[in-house]
Amino acid sequence: AAAITLESIRKQYPDGTVAVDSLDLHIAPGELVVLIGPSGCGKSTVLRMVNRLIEPSAGRILLDGTDITSGDPVTLRRRIGYVIQHVGLFPHQSVRANVGTVPRLLGWSRRAARARVDELLELVGLPPGQYGDRYPGELSGGQRQRVGVARALAADPLVLLMDEPFSAVDPIVRGRLQDEFRRLQAEVRKTIVLVTHDLDEAVRLGDRIAVLSEGGRLEQYATPDELLRA
Ligand code: ADP
Ligand code: ADP
Repeated sequence: AAAITLESIRKQYPDGTVAVDSLDLHIAPGELVVLIGPSGCGKSTVLRMVNRLIEPSAGRILLDGTDITSGDPVTLRRRIGYVIQHVGLFPHQSVRANVGTVPRLLGWSRRAARARVDELLELVGLPPGQYGDRYPGELSGGQRQRVGVARALAADPLVLLMDEPFSAVDPIVRGRLQDEFRRLQAEVRKTIVLVTHDLDEAVRLGDRIAVLSEGGRLEQYATPDELLRA
C-alpha cells in the first residue's frame, strides 16, 4: 500500500469552473480516507485526478513520494483500483473472467490468475464454486458491487479509489456491504480514498474524514470521533 499526497491541488475546468482549490491532503499507507461534502464540491474530480483521468491545473500528486503527473497514465491506472457506482462489469463475461482481466493483462499465467480470482471471490463473500461461472445479469446489485470490489483488488493495487461504491444498492443491503467491506479492509489494508455524501457511511468506514465544501476547499480533516465530538 502506498501513501498519497496532494499538494496545493487546483482544478479548473475549461469552462472556468473551479472544482478543487488549494487542496492539501496526506493519506498514510493502509489508511481509509473518506471524502465527503455536498454534491458538486469536487469529490469525484479529486479521484479522477489521482487516477489521471484528468490533470490538475496546479499542484502535485505523489504516490509514496513520487510525482505521478509525469509518466504513462495507463501503467499508473493498472496499479490503482477504481470502483464506481455502477461497476460496469463486462456483461458477456463470467464473474471469473471479469475479475481476472487485469491480472491477465499484467502477464500473470492463467493458473496464477485463476487462483488469485478464486481467493478474491471468497474474500468478498462470493464463493467461486457457486458464483464464478455466473454472468453479471444473474447477480443481485449487491453481488455485482462485490464483483467490482474483487476486480479492483485483483491486480494487487497500491491504492483503491471508490466513488460512491455502495449508493446504487438498497439501504438494507448497503449496511451489510459496508460491514463486510470494513472486515475486508481490516484484512487487506489498502490505502483507500472513498467518496460519499452519506455521513453515516463516512463514520462507519473512515479512519479519517475529509470534509470538502463548495469549490473543493478542505473544511475539516479529522477522525470520526473528533468529527462527532466537535
Ligand atoms: P462531486 O463529486 O463532489 O459531486 P464533481 O467533482 O463531480 O463534484 O464536480 C465538481 C464541480 O466541477 C461541479 O461544479 C461540477 O459541475 C464541475 N465539473 C465536473 N466535471 C466537469 C467538467 N468536465 N467540465 C466542467 N465542469 C465540471
Ligand atoms: P446481496 O446482499 O448481495 O444484494 P440479495 O440480498 O439481493 O444479495 O440476494 C440474496 C440471496 O439471493 C443471495 O444469497 C443470492 O445467492 C441469491 N440471489 C440473488 N440473485 C440471484 C440470482 N439471479 N440467481 C440466483 N440466486 C440469486
